[in-house]
Parts: sequence; C-alpha cells; structure tokens
Amino acid sequence: MQYPYKQFMPRLGMSEMVWKCFRCNLSFKDDQLAEIHKQISAHSVTKVKTIVA
Ligand SMILES: [Zn+2]
Repeated sequence: MQYPYKQFMPRLGMSEMVWKCFRCNLSFKDDQLAEIHKQISAHSVTKVKTIVA
C-alpha cells in the first residue's frame, strides 16, 4: 500500500528559519539579534529551520 506522503509534509509557512546558539540553547528570529549575540558572547550561531506547531 502506498500513502501520499505529501499530506504529512509541513505546509508552507509553518516552518521558518531562525538563528540558534547551541551553547545557550537560544534561538533568534531576528538576524540582528543573532549578530549581536554572536559579537557580545563570541558564540557561534547557526541558521536552522524550525517547524512551528
Ligand atoms: Zn550563546
């Protein structure tokens, strides 16, 4: 049996990119906030995709 897997994929608009600091376990929606955090804490932030429920 084959199921249409598209139905289980997150719809457009339900996921977004955020900046995440894995050291602090913080996420930033704002590019500027992420940049500031990176500069003041010397942490590296990574852009990740989150799925908003
Ligand atoms: Zn941090």
